[in-house]
Amino acid sequence: MSHIRNIVVLTGAGVSAESGIDTFREANDGRGGLWEQHRVEDVATPEAFARDPDLVLRFYDMRREAIQTKQPNPAHEALARLDREWDGDLLIVTQNVDDLHERAGARRILHMHGEHLNAWCTACDVRCRWTGTLIDRPACPACGEAALRPDVVWFGEMPYEMDRIFAALREADLFVSIGTSGAVYPAAGFVQNAAALGARTLELNLERSQGSHWFDETRLGPAGRIVPAWVDEMLQ
Ligand SMILES: [Zn+2]
Repeated sequence: MSHIRNIVVLTGAGVSAESGIDTFREANDGRGGLWEQHRVEDVATPEAFARDPDLVLRFYDMRREAIQTKQPNPAHEALARLDREWDGDLLIVTQNVDDLHERAGARRILHMHGEHLNAWCTACDVRCRWTGTLIDRPACPACGEAALRPDVVWFGEMPYEMDRIFAALREADLFVSIGTSGAVYPAAGFVQNAAALGARTLELNLERSQGSHWFDETRLGPAGRIVPAWVDEMLQ
């Protein structure tokens, strides 16, 4: 692996699944997805928040409370070890809104879909750490307005820091997608982008994905087993 220096890793729901975190799933019948028994359009869109803020805030309050009871798994631990020991550039772009990468010790993390444990003030645009509830409309610590919402990118909203992600992809020698179906843009475009710019591409996933054919190589298995094996290989 001596020719590889700069790595971009994309992680998705499959990395957190083994920690017991349920995430949005596409329904098999093609009628949209379910997340914890809620229809996505009822809890994870700006329109839903405008229509029924209590429902949306209560849903995210429950998710925020739940993730604080979960623990990182061997896939998170392995990526944290890669972060500590890899001398070249590394950017771990995650679609996950939990903090399990950080709790495992990883630092070079970018949350493209936001974070459950952040609140975003729609009055003053400040983001702050938030571990409690939002249903009672607490005041923003920065401006005092009761205008906090979950700092999570909803369907129909723009993912965060796309410029930084594409800049990292331009420099990447290796792009690795872990535990994500590869079916949802813009993340689905990362592999095509990386490959077009000459990076090697590797997919680590439980099963073959809709995007598998874009990758140079696909390795199948549970993230908790195949991610540590890949990291061992990179660091040997
Ligand atoms: Zn504010």
